[in-house]
Amino acid sequence: MHQPALPHLQSQDPEIAGLVEAEARRQFEKIRLIASENYVSPAVLEATGSVLTNKYSEGYAGRRYYEGQQNVDPIELLAIERAKALFGVEHANVQPYSGSPANLAVYLAFLQPGDTVMGLSLPMGGHLTHGWSVSATGRWFNPVRYEVRAEDGRVDMDQVRDLALKERPKLIWCGGTAVPRTIDFPAFAEIAREAGAVLAADVAHIAGLIAGGAHPSPAGHADVITTTTHKTLRGPRGAMILSTQEHAKAIDKAVFPGLQGGPHDHTTAAIAVALDEASRPGFAAYAHQVVANAKALAAALLERGYDLVSGGTDNHLVLIDLTGKGVPGKPAAQALDRAGIELNYNAVPFDPRKPFDPSGLRLGTAAITTRGLTEDRMPRIAAWIDEVVQAVAAEDEAAVARVAGEVRELLAGYPMPGWATAP
Ligand SMILES: *Cc1c(COP(=O)(O)O)cnc(C)c1O
Repeated sequence: MHQPALPHLQSQDPEIAGLVEAEARRQFEKIRLIASENYVSPAVLEATGSVLTNKYSEGYAGRRYYEGQQNVDPIELLAIERAKALFGVEHANVQPYSGSPANLAVYLAFLQPGDTVMGLSLPMGGHLTHGWSVSATGRWFNPVRYEVRAEDGRVDMDQVRDLALKERPKLIWCGGTAVPRTIDFPAFAEIAREAGAVLAADVAHIAGLIAGGAHPSPAGHADVITTTTHKTLRGPRGAMILSTQEHAKAIDKAVFPGLQGGPHDHTTAAIAVALDEASRPGFAAYAHQVVANAKALAAALLERGYDLVSGGTDNHLVLIDLTGKGVPGKPAAQALDRAGIELNYNAVPFDPRKPFDPSGLRLGTAAITTRGLTEDRMPRIAAWIDEVVQAVAAEDEAAVARVAGEVRELLAGYPMPGWATAP
């Protein structure tokens, strides 16, 4: 059952309580490989569910527009100090509601409508907010896009440089949502300097790996760093913008009053808790285990004849190109979900198929590593993925059901924060 228990919710609104309980069970029984997801600690969950949700505190500590900030100010200041210490930066804004608004605040801080912005193309692994056409960032600004190389699936830094010097963007984004390889922050910084652009590193996916020393840090290279707090960093749904002191004022003004109203104080408290957790030695071990698991999973998939974008991974994320298997991404992802393995279909670079039914699968190891799974379990997971992909081709639903049973059996031995097996 859900932990902590939900007695008030159960008696007052059994319909919602039943769905929350069902979700807790689903999270317990599935191998959760969605690369952007994780399991937060009970402490983070408690802070998120606290009475701080009742408070309004527009402004910043010591400069609020509402009274009664005796407890909220120290909470936000703690979150800021912990973020600065953990990531080695001079300034942190912990108020953005989520990753997308954080990125929008960067535009507001540095650009005028119509200015040129450069980012990794969405189908190549970039994020919507890096100037993709359907996003406000692609409609209100002038986007130019760099890509990955067809040969090796890696960002083409020569193209980045040529494009930056030709187009002279005011803002360059590095980072993305489906980038399985290490981001070369020093190389991006040099190009941005040459082109006279602001460099923003969006480390939403890899923030926890950076905090744990399992990925190089953009601190000291990027002018601005944005990140969500809920992916590998294992905090609540939220975001942060980190920067040098030079940009502090512009960023704070952009977040509030530029873009947002009152910060979500319960989220701020939970971010502070998660940042403290991420500063402990156990978290560095976690971050390195996430990468070790992803590498082991990638190796086991390669052994089974799967094509991986870039041929493997340096981080938590693996991108499978199913083209050679003759099974599209969407039916494969749907069958895997029925088999108790949750991931998402995803475009691969130069994908000939449509975005809503692309050729790839994206998976990540942040959540299963929190459950305590280690490298030795990854060949088994790769074998299950393979069985299900073959079952899709053979329309063998019995095989899918068999895998689901085996998955539940395995996970019964791995506790989940937020779930208690009934006595
Ligand atoms: C997840 C993500 C975001 C957006 O975060 P939301 O909280 O979903 O708005 C932004 N950038 C990157 C690279 C991401 O992976």
